[in-house]
Amino acid sequence: MASIALHNIRKSYGSLPVIHGVDVDIEDGEFIVLVGPSGCGKSTLLRMIAGLETISDGQLSIGGRMVNDLPSKDRDIAMVFQSYALYPHLTVAENMGFSLKLRGTAQEEIGRRVQSAAKILALEPYLDRHPRHLSGGQRQRVAMGRAIVRDPKVFLFDEPLSNLDAKLRVAMRAEIKELHQRLKITTVYVTHDQTEAMTMADRIVVMRDGIVEQIGTPLDIYDRPATTFVAGFIGMPA
Ligand code: ADP
Ligand code: MG
Repeated sequence: MASIALHNIRKSYGSLPVIHGVDVDIEDGEFIVLVGPSGCGKSTLLRMIAGLETISDGQLSIGGRMVNDLPSKDRDIAMVFQSYALYPHLTVAENMGFSLKLRGTAQEEIGRRVQSAAKILALEPYLDRHPRHLSGGQRQRVAMGRAIVRDPKVFLFDEPLSNLDAKLRVAMRAEIKELHQRLKITTVYVTHDQTEAMTMADRIVVMRDGIVEQIGTPLDIYDRPATTFVAGFIGMPA
């Protein structure tokens, strides 16, 4: 677990500014949802936290340590994407252990961590199967398993459920929340779906055009939207 502090974070792509000074303090173990319309900068912000995108200006700290210049691989972070491409020729167990293998972790340790993650995610019966023999929900769990085996201090999710049908999406929301309640890993979860934000977040960060419009609990935001944009966006059907 680790707290995350963003202080006056800015980002430009070339000469085009897209993040205009974002301040957010995320507590240890918190489940934060970044929500806002497409193109408002959610992925950019998440990728800066992950170290996959440089920070143009401002300070980012994770677990009390300034990480602006720390390479992604040293940040103790695991990221789950929307397109969770699994390796089709590898089994579930091999998919989950792959990143550890790349890091030179001993086979025995990989086996132990994969078993433990499989247990948490109810994937034990499927460890020897190949992804094509899994349901959409099971594949999504394998994608989470790949992240869990690394024992990260922070979980980052970028629209992980967008490719799933509506029913499965609702089920997976509950699974991800349950996982968070069990592991208490600090989580930043990006979505453009306000219902997902309202049902999953400890606190919501509402973004618009590269700025933060409001930060608060789902109830705060629902009861007291700070701007007409927030009121309109949160009130809109998904
Ligand atoms: P969101 O995830 O909220 O949809 P993004 O963070 O992907 O938004 O994008 C924010 C803005 O930055 C958009 O205007 C997008 O076109 C622009 N952008 C994102 N990635 C790049 C890039 N690699 N190069 C140039 N512009 C980018
Ligand atoms: Mg995005």
